[in-house]
Amino acid sequence: MEELLYKSTRSESKPVTASKAILKGLAEDGGLYVPEKFPKLEISMEEISKMDYKEIAYQVMSLFFTDFTEEELRGCIDRAYDTKFDTEEIAPIVKAGGAYYLELFHGATIAFKDMALSILPHLLTVSAKKNKVKNDIVILTATSGDTGKAALAGFADVEGTKIIVFYPENGVSPIQKKQMVTQKGKNTYVVAIQGNFDDAQTGVKEIFNDKEFAKELEKDQVQFSSANSINIGRLVPQVVYYVYAYAKLLAEGELSNKETLNVVVPTGNFGNILAAFYAKNMGVPIGKLICASNENKVLYDFFQTGIYNRNREFVLTNSPSMDILVSSNLERLIYWLAGNSANKNVDCMSGLSAKGVYHISEEMREKLSNFYGNFASEEETGDAIKTLFEDTGYIIDTHTAVAASVYQKYKKDTQDTTKTLIVSTASPYKFTRSVMEVIDKEKYQGMGDFELADELSRISAVPIPRAIEEIRNAKVLHDRVCQKDNMKEAIRDILTNK
Ligand SMILES: *Cc1c(COP(=O)(O)O)cnc(C)c1O
Repeated sequence: MEELLYKSTRSESKPVTASKAILKGLAEDGGLYVPEKFPKLEISMEEISKMDYKEIAYQVMSLFFTDFTEEELRGCIDRAYDTKFDTEEIAPIVKAGGAYYLELFHGATIAFKDMALSILPHLLTVSAKKNKVKNDIVILTATSGDTGKAALAGFADVEGTKIIVFYPENGVSPIQKKQMVTQKGKNTYVVAIQGNFDDAQTGVKEIFNDKEFAKELEKDQVQFSSANSINIGRLVPQVVYYVYAYAKLLAEGELSNKETLNVVVPTGNFGNILAAFYAKNMGVPIGKLICASNENKVLYDFFQTGIYNRNREFVLTNSPSMDILVSSNLERLIYWLAGNSANKNVDCMSGLSAKGVYHISEEMREKLSNFYGNFASEEETGDAIKTLFEDTGYIIDTHTAVAASVYQKYKKDTQDTTKTLIVSTASPYKFTRSVMEVIDKEKYQGMGDFELADELSRISAVPIPRAIEEIRNAKVLHDRVCQKDNMKEAIRDILTNK
Protein backbone atom coordinates (compact mmCIF):
# COMPACT_ATOMS: atom_id res chain seq x y z
CA MET A 1 0.00 0.00 0.00
CA GLU A 2 1.12 3.52 -0.78
CA GLU A 3 2.39 5.42 2.25
CA LEU A 4 0.30 8.38 3.37
CA LEU A 5 2.17 11.15 5.18
CA TYR A 6 0.93 14.09 7.22
CA LYS A 7 1.92 17.71 6.85
CA SER A 8 1.34 20.74 8.99
CA THR A 9 -1.24 23.38 8.07
CA ARG A 10 1.22 26.13 9.03
CA SER A 11 4.49 25.53 7.20
CA GLU A 12 6.14 23.53 4.46
CA SER A 13 8.11 21.48 6.99
CA LYS A 14 8.81 17.84 6.22
CA PRO A 15 5.76 15.57 6.33
CA VAL A 16 5.67 12.88 9.03
CA THR A 17 4.27 9.37 9.35
CA ALA A 18 0.84 8.77 10.84
CA SER A 19 2.32 7.37 14.05
CA LYS A 20 4.50 10.47 14.51
CA ALA A 21 1.54 12.76 13.87
CA ILE A 22 -0.47 10.86 16.49
CA LEU A 23 2.37 11.03 19.03
CA LYS A 24 2.93 14.75 18.55
CA GLY A 25 -0.71 15.84 18.35
CA LEU A 26 0.12 19.37 17.25
CA ALA A 27 2.94 20.12 14.79
CA GLU A 28 5.94 22.05 16.13
CA ASP A 29 4.95 25.17 14.17
CA GLY A 30 1.59 25.11 15.95
CA GLY A 31 -0.22 23.73 12.90
CA LEU A 32 -2.56 20.76 12.64
CA TYR A 33 -1.55 17.62 10.80
CA VAL A 34 -3.46 16.84 7.60
CA PRO A 35 -3.01 13.91 5.23
CA GLU A 36 -1.14 14.84 2.03
CA LYS A 37 -4.19 13.68 0.12
CA PHE A 38 -7.54 12.04 0.79
CA PRO A 39 -7.27 8.29 0.35
CA LYS A 40 -10.04 6.71 -1.73
CA LEU A 41 -12.11 3.74 -0.63
CA GLU A 42 -10.93 0.92 -2.83
CA ILE A 43 -13.86 -1.42 -2.29
CA SER A 44 -17.45 -0.71 -3.28
CA MET A 45 -20.10 0.44 -0.83
CA GLU A 46 -21.99 -2.75 -1.58
CA GLU A 47 -19.08 -4.83 -0.36
CA ILE A 48 -18.66 -2.57 2.67
CA SER A 49 -22.35 -2.96 3.46
CA LYS A 50 -21.71 -6.61 4.31
CA MET A 51 -19.11 -5.76 6.95
CA ASP A 52 -19.50 -5.08 10.68
CA TYR A 53 -18.29 -1.96 12.46
CA LYS A 54 -14.84 -3.27 13.31
CA GLU A 55 -14.15 -4.50 9.80
CA ILE A 56 -15.20 -1.15 8.34
CA ALA A 57 -13.03 0.58 10.93
CA TYR A 58 -10.09 -1.47 9.68
CA GLN A 59 -10.85 -0.74 6.01
CA VAL A 60 -10.99 3.01 6.65
CA MET A 61 -8.19 3.43 9.17
CA SER A 62 -5.73 1.29 7.23
CA LEU A 63 -5.95 3.82 4.38
CA PHE A 64 -4.95 6.64 6.75
CA PHE A 65 -2.53 4.95 9.14
CA THR A 66 -0.32 3.32 6.55
CA ASP A 67 2.66 2.78 8.85
CA PHE A 68 0.63 0.55 11.18
CA THR A 69 0.74 -3.17 10.45
CA GLU A 70 -2.55 -5.00 9.99
CA GLU A 71 -2.01 -6.75 13.31
CA GLU A 72 -1.32 -3.49 15.16
CA LEU A 73 -4.35 -1.74 13.74
CA ARG A 74 -6.74 -4.64 14.24
CA GLY A 75 -5.41 -4.94 17.79
CA CYS A 76 -6.27 -1.28 18.47
CA ILE A 77 -9.73 -1.69 16.96
CA ASP A 78 -10.49 -4.86 18.95
CA ARG A 79 -9.46 -3.27 22.22
CA ALA A 80 -11.52 -0.13 21.52
CA TYR A 81 -14.84 -1.33 20.16
CA ASP A 82 -15.56 -4.10 22.65
CA THR A 83 -18.00 -4.52 25.53
CA LYS A 84 -17.37 -0.94 26.65
CA PHE A 85 -20.12 -0.33 24.09
CA ASP A 86 -23.57 -1.52 25.07
CA THR A 87 -24.39 -2.80 21.57
CA GLU A 88 -22.39 -4.84 19.07
CA GLU A 89 -23.58 -2.50 16.34
CA ILE A 90 -21.46 0.20 18.06
CA ALA A 91 -23.34 2.98 16.24
CA PRO A 92 -27.01 2.03 15.70
CA ILE A 93 -29.31 4.03 13.45
CA VAL A 94 -32.87 4.98 14.45
CA LYS A 95 -35.42 6.18 11.90
CA ALA A 96 -37.68 8.86 13.36
CA GLY A 97 -39.52 11.96 12.22
CA GLY A 98 -38.40 11.72 8.58
CA ALA A 99 -34.66 11.36 9.27
CA TYR A 100 -32.10 8.78 10.35
CA TYR A 101 -30.45 9.33 13.71
CA LEU A 102 -26.94 7.91 13.97
CA GLU A 103 -26.55 7.16 17.69
CA LEU A 104 -22.92 7.73 18.62
CA PHE A 105 -23.55 7.45 22.35
CA HIS A 106 -23.35 3.77 23.14
CA GLY A 107 -19.83 3.87 24.61
CA ALA A 108 -18.51 4.15 28.16
CA THR A 109 -19.57 7.76 28.78
CA ILE A 110 -22.69 7.87 26.58
CA ALA A 111 -21.45 10.69 24.34
CA PHE A 112 -19.86 10.66 20.90
CA LYS A 113 -16.35 11.43 22.12
CA ASP A 114 -16.13 7.77 23.13
CA MET A 115 -16.04 6.86 19.43
CA ALA A 116 -12.53 8.31 19.14
CA LEU A 117 -11.30 8.32 22.73
CA SER A 118 -11.79 4.59 23.14
CA ILE A 119 -9.24 3.94 20.39
CA LEU A 120 -6.83 6.89 20.76
CA PRO A 121 -4.99 5.40 23.79
CA HIS A 122 -4.20 2.28 21.80
CA LEU A 123 -3.15 4.21 18.69
CA LEU A 124 -0.93 6.30 20.95
CA THR A 125 0.79 3.41 22.73
CA VAL A 126 1.39 1.58 19.45
CA SER A 127 2.76 4.82 17.95
CA ALA A 128 5.08 5.21 20.93
CA LYS A 129 6.44 1.69 20.46
CA LYS A 130 6.89 2.18 16.72
CA ASN A 131 8.91 5.32 17.34
CA LYS A 132 10.98 3.75 20.12
CA VAL A 133 9.61 6.04 22.81
CA LYS A 134 10.41 4.37 26.13
CA ASN A 135 8.88 7.00 28.40
CA ASP A 136 5.50 6.62 30.01
CA ILE A 137 2.98 8.90 28.36
CA VAL A 138 1.09 11.24 30.63
CA ILE A 139 -2.08 12.66 29.18
CA LEU A 140 -3.03 16.09 30.50
CA THR A 141 -6.53 17.33 29.87
CA ALA A 142 -8.58 20.31 30.96
CA THR A 143 -12.26 19.60 30.67
CA SER A 144 -15.58 21.37 30.87
CA GLY A 145 -17.22 17.98 31.39
CA ASP A 146 -17.52 15.52 28.53
CA THR A 147 -13.99 15.16 27.19
CA GLY A 148 -12.48 14.56 30.62
CA LYS A 149 -14.63 11.57 31.41
CA ALA A 150 -14.34 10.09 27.93
CA ALA A 151 -10.54 10.42 28.08
CA LEU A 152 -10.41 8.90 31.59
CA ALA A 153 -12.50 5.95 30.44
CA GLY A 154 -10.39 5.50 27.33
CA PHE A 155 -7.02 5.59 29.09
CA ALA A 156 -7.97 3.75 32.28
CA ASP A 157 -5.50 0.90 32.85
CA VAL A 158 -3.88 1.28 29.41
CA GLU A 159 -0.31 0.19 30.02
CA GLY A 160 2.43 2.78 29.59
CA THR A 161 0.05 5.70 30.16
CA LYS A 162 -1.25 7.89 32.97
CA ILE A 163 -4.03 10.42 32.67
CA ILE A 164 -4.55 13.59 34.70
CA VAL A 165 -7.78 15.52 34.22
CA PHE A 166 -8.38 19.03 35.56
CA TYR A 167 -11.93 20.29 35.84
CA PRO A 168 -13.38 23.56 37.19
CA GLU A 169 -14.67 22.79 40.69
CA ASN A 170 -17.99 24.55 40.13
CA GLY A 171 -18.12 24.48 36.34
CA VAL A 172 -19.43 21.01 35.50
CA SER A 173 -22.82 19.40 36.05
CA PRO A 174 -23.33 17.19 39.14
CA ILE A 175 -23.58 14.09 36.95
CA GLN A 176 -20.43 15.00 35.02
CA LYS A 177 -18.56 15.53 38.28
CA LYS A 178 -19.79 12.26 39.71
CA GLN A 179 -18.78 10.46 36.51
CA MET A 180 -15.24 11.76 36.84
CA VAL A 181 -14.59 11.41 40.57
CA THR A 182 -15.76 7.80 40.54
CA GLN A 183 -13.43 6.81 37.68
CA LYS A 184 -11.62 3.53 38.28
CA GLY A 185 -8.15 2.62 37.03
CA LYS A 186 -4.82 2.86 38.85
CA ASN A 187 -3.40 5.29 36.25
CA THR A 188 -6.24 7.83 36.47
CA TYR A 189 -6.08 11.14 38.37
CA VAL A 190 -8.81 13.74 38.64
CA VAL A 191 -8.16 17.21 40.06
CA ALA A 192 -10.69 19.96 40.80
CA ILE A 193 -9.41 23.46 40.05
CA GLN A 194 -10.52 26.43 42.10
CA GLY A 195 -11.20 28.45 39.00
CA ASN A 196 -13.15 28.26 35.77
CA PHE A 197 -12.64 26.18 32.63
CA ASP A 198 -10.45 28.84 31.03
CA ASP A 199 -8.11 28.77 34.05
CA ALA A 200 -7.82 25.00 33.73
CA GLN A 201 -7.20 25.16 29.99
CA THR A 202 -4.67 27.99 30.23
CA GLY A 203 -2.85 26.13 33.00
CA VAL A 204 -2.60 22.96 30.92
CA LYS A 205 -1.35 24.92 27.89
CA GLU A 206 1.35 26.59 29.99
CA ILE A 207 2.49 23.24 31.31
CA PHE A 208 2.71 21.85 27.78
CA ASN A 209 4.94 24.79 26.79
CA ASP A 210 7.15 24.54 29.90
CA LYS A 211 10.43 23.19 28.52
CA GLU A 212 12.11 23.11 31.97
CA PHE A 213 9.33 21.00 33.42
CA ALA A 214 9.52 18.66 30.43
CA LYS A 215 13.25 18.14 31.10
CA GLU A 216 12.59 17.46 34.77
CA LEU A 217 10.02 14.81 33.84
CA GLU A 218 12.23 13.27 31.18
CA LYS A 219 14.51 12.21 34.05
CA ASP A 220 11.62 10.24 35.51
CA GLN A 221 10.99 8.76 32.08
CA VAL A 222 7.65 10.39 31.48
CA GLN A 223 6.47 12.76 28.76
CA PHE A 224 3.27 14.68 28.21
CA SER A 225 0.78 14.21 25.45
CA SER A 226 -2.69 15.50 24.84
CA ALA A 227 -5.93 13.79 23.93
CA ASN A 228 -7.60 16.86 22.50
CA SER A 229 -9.67 16.88 19.39
CA ILE A 230 -7.03 18.22 17.01
CA ASN A 231 -5.08 14.95 17.17
CA ILE A 232 -5.35 13.13 13.84
CA GLY A 233 -5.77 9.99 15.96
CA ARG A 234 -9.14 11.34 17.02
CA LEU A 235 -10.26 12.63 13.64
CA VAL A 236 -9.71 9.48 11.59
CA PRO A 237 -11.72 7.11 13.85
CA GLN A 238 -14.61 9.55 13.37
CA VAL A 239 -14.53 9.08 9.60
CA VAL A 240 -15.40 5.43 10.17
CA TYR A 241 -18.95 5.93 11.36
CA TYR A 242 -19.93 7.93 8.29
CA VAL A 243 -18.80 5.09 6.07
CA TYR A 244 -20.56 2.66 8.40
CA ALA A 245 -23.81 4.66 8.43
CA TYR A 246 -24.00 4.86 4.64
CA ALA A 247 -23.20 1.15 4.29
CA LYS A 248 -25.79 0.23 6.90
CA LEU A 249 -28.56 2.25 5.23
CA LEU A 250 -27.62 0.64 1.94
CA ALA A 251 -27.72 -2.85 3.48
CA GLU A 252 -31.16 -2.17 4.92
CA GLY A 253 -32.53 -0.93 1.61
CA GLU A 254 -33.08 2.59 2.94
CA LEU A 255 -30.68 3.91 0.29
CA SER A 256 -30.15 2.65 -3.24
CA ASN A 257 -26.67 2.23 -4.68
CA LYS A 258 -24.91 5.63 -5.01
CA GLU A 259 -27.93 7.54 -3.71
CA THR A 260 -26.93 10.82 -2.06
CA LEU A 261 -27.23 11.19 1.71
CA ASN A 262 -27.09 14.55 3.50
CA VAL A 263 -25.69 14.77 7.01
CA VAL A 264 -26.49 17.18 9.82
CA VAL A 265 -23.88 17.53 12.56
CA PRO A 266 -24.26 19.39 15.87
CA THR A 267 -20.98 21.25 15.87
CA GLY A 268 -18.57 22.80 18.36
CA ASN A 269 -14.90 22.29 17.58
CA PHE A 270 -15.69 21.24 13.99
CA GLY A 271 -14.11 17.78 14.39
CA ASN A 272 -17.17 15.65 13.81
CA ILE A 273 -18.38 17.46 10.68
CA LEU A 274 -14.83 17.58 9.31
CA ALA A 275 -14.77 13.78 9.58
CA ALA A 276 -17.93 13.71 7.41
CA PHE A 277 -16.12 15.93 4.89
CA TYR A 278 -13.21 13.46 4.87
CA ALA A 279 -15.64 10.57 4.29
CA LYS A 280 -17.18 12.45 1.37
CA ASN A 281 -13.74 13.00 -0.12
CA MET A 282 -12.99 9.30 0.22
CA GLY A 283 -15.93 8.54 -2.03
CA VAL A 284 -18.93 8.08 0.28
CA PRO A 285 -21.95 9.58 -1.58
CA ILE A 286 -22.56 12.31 0.96
CA GLY A 287 -24.32 15.42 -0.38
CA LYS A 288 -24.68 18.46 1.84
CA LEU A 289 -22.72 18.84 5.05
CA ILE A 290 -25.11 20.70 7.31
CA CYS A 291 -23.37 22.41 10.21
CA ALA A 292 -25.66 23.02 13.19
CA SER A 293 -24.70 25.54 15.87
CA ASN A 294 -26.40 26.66 19.07
CA GLU A 295 -26.60 30.34 20.06
CA ASN A 296 -22.80 30.53 19.86
CA LYS A 297 -23.29 30.82 16.12
CA VAL A 298 -19.78 31.80 14.95
CA LEU A 299 -19.84 29.09 12.30
CA TYR A 300 -23.27 30.07 10.97
CA ASP A 301 -22.01 33.63 10.51
CA PHE A 302 -18.87 32.30 8.86
CA PHE A 303 -20.83 30.30 6.29
CA GLN A 304 -23.09 33.31 5.67
CA THR A 305 -20.37 35.93 5.24
CA GLY A 306 -16.94 34.30 4.87
CA ILE A 307 -15.90 36.15 8.04
CA TYR A 308 -14.89 34.25 11.14
CA ASN A 309 -15.30 36.51 14.15
CA ARG A 310 -14.90 35.30 17.71
CA ASN A 311 -15.40 38.78 19.20
CA ARG A 312 -18.80 38.31 20.74
CA GLU A 313 -20.47 37.36 23.94
CA PHE A 314 -20.06 33.76 25.02
CA VAL A 315 -23.49 32.24 25.62
CA LEU A 316 -24.03 29.43 28.14
CA THR A 317 -26.58 27.07 26.60
CA ASN A 318 -28.19 23.73 27.39
CA SER A 319 -25.91 22.15 24.77
CA PRO A 320 -22.69 22.99 26.65
CA SER A 321 -20.40 20.78 24.57
CA MET A 322 -21.08 23.13 21.65
CA ASP A 323 -20.46 26.35 23.60
CA ILE A 324 -17.31 27.23 21.70
CA LEU A 325 -16.13 30.41 20.00
CA VAL A 326 -12.95 29.08 18.39
CA SER A 327 -13.56 25.88 16.44
CA SER A 328 -10.01 24.59 16.27
CA ASN A 329 -10.57 21.89 13.65
CA LEU A 330 -11.88 24.47 11.17
CA GLU A 331 -8.21 25.23 10.46
CA ARG A 332 -7.96 21.99 8.49
CA LEU A 333 -10.81 23.12 6.24
CA ILE A 334 -9.37 26.62 5.83
CA TYR A 335 -6.09 25.08 4.69
CA TRP A 336 -7.95 22.97 2.13
CA LEU A 337 -10.02 25.96 0.94
CA ALA A 338 -6.74 27.83 0.45
CA GLY A 339 -5.58 25.13 -1.96
CA ASN A 340 -3.33 23.56 0.70
CA SER A 341 -1.44 26.81 1.15
CA ALA A 342 0.23 27.07 4.56
CA ASN A 343 0.86 30.78 3.95
CA LYS A 344 -2.76 31.66 3.32
CA ASN A 345 -3.84 29.57 6.30
CA VAL A 346 -1.28 31.29 8.54
CA ASP A 347 -2.67 34.69 7.45
CA CYS A 348 -6.10 33.64 8.69
CA MET A 349 -4.82 32.08 11.93
CA SER A 350 -2.67 35.10 12.82
CA GLY A 351 -5.70 37.31 12.29
CA LEU A 352 -7.59 35.06 14.66
CA SER A 353 -5.00 35.17 17.42
CA ALA A 354 -4.23 38.89 17.05
CA LYS A 355 -7.70 40.34 16.47
CA GLY A 356 -10.06 37.43 16.90
CA VAL A 357 -11.20 37.69 13.28
CA TYR A 358 -10.30 36.74 9.70
CA HIS A 359 -12.03 36.58 6.37
CA ILE A 360 -11.54 34.22 3.51
CA SER A 361 -11.31 35.20 -0.16
CA GLU A 362 -14.16 34.86 -2.69
CA GLU A 363 -12.26 32.04 -4.32
CA MET A 364 -12.11 30.16 -1.04
CA ARG A 365 -15.79 30.81 -0.35
CA GLU A 366 -16.80 29.24 -3.64
CA LYS A 367 -15.33 25.96 -2.45
CA LEU A 368 -17.74 25.94 0.48
CA SER A 369 -20.76 25.12 -1.67
CA ASN A 370 -21.22 21.68 -0.10
CA PHE A 371 -21.59 23.18 3.35
CA TYR A 372 -24.70 24.74 4.79
CA GLY A 373 -24.73 26.40 8.21
CA ASN A 374 -27.55 27.39 10.50
CA PHE A 375 -28.26 27.63 14.22
CA ALA A 376 -30.98 26.94 16.75
CA SER A 377 -31.95 29.14 19.68
CA GLU A 378 -32.50 27.62 23.12
CA GLU A 379 -36.25 27.74 22.55
CA GLU A 380 -36.04 26.10 19.13
CA THR A 381 -33.82 23.38 20.58
CA GLY A 382 -36.36 22.63 23.29
CA ASP A 383 -39.18 22.60 20.74
CA ALA A 384 -37.30 20.07 18.63
CA ILE A 385 -37.06 17.64 21.57
CA LYS A 386 -40.70 18.07 22.54
CA THR A 387 -42.09 17.81 19.00
CA LEU A 388 -40.11 14.71 18.10
CA PHE A 389 -41.12 13.05 21.38
CA GLU A 390 -44.79 13.89 20.95
CA ASP A 391 -44.82 12.77 17.32
CA THR A 392 -42.76 9.60 17.60
CA GLY A 393 -41.92 8.76 21.23
CA TYR A 394 -38.19 9.06 20.44
CA ILE A 395 -36.21 11.25 22.85
CA ILE A 396 -33.05 13.06 21.77
CA ASP A 397 -30.57 15.06 23.82
CA THR A 398 -30.09 18.83 23.61
CA HIS A 399 -27.08 18.69 21.23
CA THR A 400 -28.83 16.37 18.82
CA ALA A 401 -31.88 18.61 19.08
CA VAL A 402 -29.85 21.56 17.78
CA ALA A 403 -29.18 19.45 14.69
CA ALA A 404 -32.82 18.34 14.39
CA SER A 405 -33.97 21.95 14.55
CA VAL A 406 -31.42 23.09 11.95
CA TYR A 407 -32.51 20.23 9.70
CA GLN A 408 -36.06 21.65 9.70
CA LYS A 409 -34.70 25.09 8.81
CA TYR A 410 -32.61 23.61 6.02
CA LYS A 411 -35.61 21.86 4.48
CA LYS A 412 -37.66 25.03 4.66
CA ASP A 413 -34.84 27.10 3.15
CA THR A 414 -33.95 24.80 0.29
CA GLN A 415 -36.89 22.45 -0.35
CA ASP A 416 -34.22 19.74 -0.60
CA THR A 417 -35.77 16.32 -0.03
CA THR A 418 -32.55 14.27 -0.05
CA LYS A 419 -32.48 11.56 2.62
CA THR A 420 -30.74 12.81 5.73
CA LEU A 421 -28.64 11.46 8.56
CA ILE A 422 -28.72 13.42 11.81
CA VAL A 423 -25.72 12.74 13.99
CA SER A 424 -26.82 12.05 17.54
CA THR A 425 -23.94 13.01 19.80
CA ALA A 426 -25.17 12.32 23.32
CA SER A 427 -27.63 10.13 25.11
CA PRO A 428 -30.59 12.02 26.58
CA TYR A 429 -29.52 10.42 29.89
CA LYS A 430 -26.45 12.62 29.89
CA PHE A 431 -28.53 15.80 29.88
CA THR A 432 -31.58 14.42 31.64
CA ARG A 433 -32.67 17.58 33.40
CA SER A 434 -32.58 19.82 30.32
CA VAL A 435 -34.39 17.19 28.29
CA MET A 436 -37.10 16.40 30.82
CA GLU A 437 -37.79 20.02 31.64
CA VAL A 438 -38.63 20.85 28.05
CA ILE A 439 -40.93 17.85 27.88
CA ASP A 440 -42.88 18.84 30.99
CA LYS A 441 -41.45 21.63 33.10
CA GLU A 442 -44.09 21.60 35.81
CA LYS A 443 -43.95 17.91 36.41
CA TYR A 444 -40.20 17.45 36.41
CA GLN A 445 -38.59 20.58 37.76
CA GLY A 446 -38.33 19.56 41.42
CA MET A 447 -37.05 16.04 40.85
CA GLY A 448 -33.56 14.69 41.64
CA ASP A 449 -31.20 13.59 38.89
CA PHE A 450 -31.65 9.87 39.29
CA GLU A 451 -35.39 10.17 39.75
CA LEU A 452 -35.44 12.02 36.44
CA ALA A 453 -33.48 9.20 34.83
CA ASP A 454 -36.12 6.73 36.05
CA GLU A 455 -38.87 8.93 34.57
CA LEU A 456 -37.00 9.24 31.28
CA SER A 457 -36.74 5.48 31.11
CA ARG A 458 -40.45 5.13 31.79
CA ILE A 459 -41.64 7.57 29.11
CA SER A 460 -39.11 6.59 26.42
CA ALA A 461 -39.06 2.83 27.10
CA VAL A 462 -35.26 2.95 26.77
CA PRO A 463 -33.45 1.25 29.66
CA ILE A 464 -31.13 3.37 31.80
CA PRO A 465 -27.60 3.02 30.40
CA ARG A 466 -24.95 1.24 32.43
CA ALA A 467 -22.94 4.48 32.60
CA ILE A 468 -25.71 6.08 34.67
CA GLU A 469 -26.55 3.01 36.76
CA GLU A 470 -22.90 2.64 37.69
CA ILE A 471 -22.50 6.10 39.16
CA ARG A 472 -25.71 5.95 41.13
CA ASN A 473 -23.98 4.15 44.00
CA ALA A 474 -20.34 4.41 42.98
CA LYS A 475 -17.66 5.32 45.51
CA VAL A 476 -15.83 8.64 45.16
CA LEU A 477 -12.22 7.75 44.37
CA HIS A 478 -10.78 11.18 43.59
CA ASP A 479 -10.86 14.16 45.93
CA ARG A 480 -7.85 16.25 44.91
CA VAL A 481 -8.41 19.98 44.79
CA CYS A 482 -5.87 22.59 43.77
CA GLN A 483 -5.66 26.32 43.31
CA LYS A 484 -5.46 27.44 39.73
CA ASP A 485 -1.84 28.55 40.13
CA ASN A 486 -0.72 25.25 41.62
CA MET A 487 -1.42 22.83 38.79
CA LYS A 488 2.25 22.10 38.23
CA GLU A 489 2.74 21.15 41.88
CA ALA A 490 -0.32 18.92 41.69
CA ILE A 491 1.19 17.11 38.70
CA ARG A 492 4.57 16.76 40.39
CA ASP A 493 2.86 15.34 43.44
CA ILE A 494 0.94 12.81 41.36
CA LEU A 495 3.90 11.71 39.27
CA THR A 496 6.50 11.44 41.99
CA ASN A 497 4.57 10.25 45.03
CA LYS A 498 2.77 7.34 43.47
C1 LIG B 1 -17.97 17.52 21.62
C2 LIG B 1 -19.43 17.44 21.36
C3 LIG B 1 -20.02 18.05 20.23
C4 LIG B 1 -19.22 18.88 19.25
O1 LIG B 1 -18.42 18.09 18.42
P1 LIG B 1 -17.21 18.77 17.61
O2 LIG B 1 -16.48 17.64 17.00
O3 LIG B 1 -16.39 19.49 18.65
O4 LIG B 1 -17.81 19.70 16.62
C5 LIG B 1 -21.38 17.90 20.03
N1 LIG B 1 -22.15 17.20 20.91
C6 LIG B 1 -21.63 16.61 22.00
C7 LIG B 1 -22.53 15.87 22.92
C8 LIG B 1 -20.25 16.68 22.26
O5 LIG B 1 -19.76 16.10 23.36
